[in-house]
Amino acid sequence: MGMTAEPLRPVSLKREGDGLRVAWSDGAATFVTWAALRANCPCASCIDDRAKPPNPFRILSEREMAAGAPAPVAMKAVGHYAYQISWNDGHSTGIYTIEALRKLGEPTT
Ligand SMILES: [Zn+2]
Repeated sequence: MGMTAEPLRPVSLKREGDGLRVAWSDGAATFVTWAALRANCPCASCIDDRAKPPNPFRILSEREMAAGAPAPVAMKAVGHYAYQISWNDGHSTGIYTIEALRKLGEPTT
């Protein structure tokens, strides 16, 4: 009690297969697929898109079709609390907070 916990932070981030493995400062390890990260993009326009009913007639952009499975082309730290991921479909406005990365990850050993 009365301990000031250090803020949770990733100790290591590693591309592994179809996702991201994260080792955390509290000793936990998580794995999240790129598909799950992309599907949970926290940017305003994706949140807005997910709130709409699915549109079977939505036309995929050429870029989206060419991209296939979601994969990151770049990932950079934004301040000390978030990461910005640029995707192979050309989308890059999503800023993933440390908390979001932790929440989206499945615990692993
Ligand atoms: Zn987005």
